Order: sequence, then C-alpha cells, then structure tokens
Amino acid sequence: MRSGIEDAAREAGRAASEITLIVVTKFHPVSLIEQLAELGVRDMGENRHQEVQQKAAELAALDLTWHFVGQVQGKKARQVRAYANVIHSVDRASLVDALASETSAVDCFIQVNLTDDPARGGVNPNELLPLVERVQDTAGLRLLGLMTVAPLHVEPRRAFARIRALSADILQSAPQATALSMGMSQDYAEAILEGATHLRIGTAITGKRPDHS
Ligand SMILES: *Cc1c(COP(=O)(O)O)cnc(C)c1O
Repeated sequence: MRSGIEDAAREAGRAASEITLIVVTKFHPVSLIEQLAELGVRDMGENRHQEVQQKAAELAALDLTWHFVGQVQGKKARQVRAYANVIHSVDRASLVDALASETSAVDCFIQVNLTDDPARGGVNPNELLPLVERVQDTAGLRLLGLMTVAPLHVEPRRAFARIRALSADILQSAPQATALSMGMSQDYAEAILEGATHLRIGTAITGKRPDHS
C-alpha cells in the first residue's frame, strides 16, 4: 500500500509524506487495530457510532487518532465528538449546530454528495458555500477541507476533480480548509492525482471485512 501511494504521489509530482493514510477498521475486532498500531498506524477510520465508541474506550491507552467517516445522527453528535479526533462527514446545518462547543475544538471535513441520491451522506454541491460559512462561524469546529466518496458508475478521477474545483471555490470563505479526504481501496491512486491529502482505505489493507461487508 505504501508503495502504491508513493508511485501515485510521484506521478502527481507530490510528496507521499503530505498524504495521511487512514486505515478503515470498521467491523474488525480490536485485536486487528492493536496489530496495526504495532505496525505504526496511528490513524483509524470507523463509521458506526456504537462500535467506535467502544473501540476508542478500550484502546484509549494507545492514543490513536480516530476518524469518524460515517453519517452522524444529530442526537449522537455530542457523543461522537467526545471520542472522534476528526469528523469527516459534516453535511448539514443542524449537525454543525449540534457539534458546536465553547470549550473544545474538533477537526472536521464537510462531506460532499456527488450522487443524486440524497440518502447518501453529504451536502449537495449547490449548498456547499453556506455550509462552509456556517462551520467557519461555529465555535468548536475547525474545518480542514472537503470529503467525498466517488459515486458508482462515474469515473472516479472526474469525481475527485470536481471536489478539487469545489475546494478552490471555498478558499475565500475558509482559507485554511485546503485538505481533501478522498480515495478508498479501489480509487486511491486517482484521488492522489487530484490532490487527496487524506486517504480512507479499508479492504486493500485489512482484507475482507467480517460480516455485512
Ligand atoms: C468503508 C469506508 C471506506 C473504506 O472502503 P474500502 O473500499 O474498504 O477501502 C472509506 N470511506 C468510507 C466513508 C467508508 O465507509
């Protein structure tokens, strides 16, 4: 995996060191996360609230960086905030408000939905700018940038290029929000070519997920 990332970075004229590899460990047992940590992985991605809440508590001593990449229910927002170091899936104003805090800050990405299915997580690109402004104006949220999942049946590179263009559009409102969370097992090389700074990779590293995967 590291060599695949290095090859794509070289092709893009980028340094692999500027790309954060998040290993998505959803559905896998705590023992797998412990093995990854022994191999030097610090950034873990999860998408189900109760599962990661438990894992983060159990593994607190390892001081890992937990990335929440799933949809966040409004009523669970404060609980997610309590263990997540980075929330990749901010996608609506009510969630921004639910995540606000006067006492601590959490890093986040705004997720953009490039499909025409509103049930998928993410904000419609047309509604992105007001959401960026809302995050900027909300205490306790530090906007890192944009996140997406490439839609099925679309050339992933085109989807990622679209996010890169949207990223340029938001810089006037949020000059610090330059990061791009995009690229999974099947499309990480294309994502790197379009400027991804955070890859979320599961099966290509962990193998097939146990149950429902
Ligand atoms: C599961 C998941 C991933 C990892 O997917 P793989 O295809 O296993 O690499 C990345 N991002 C999100 C949002 C996910 O839910």
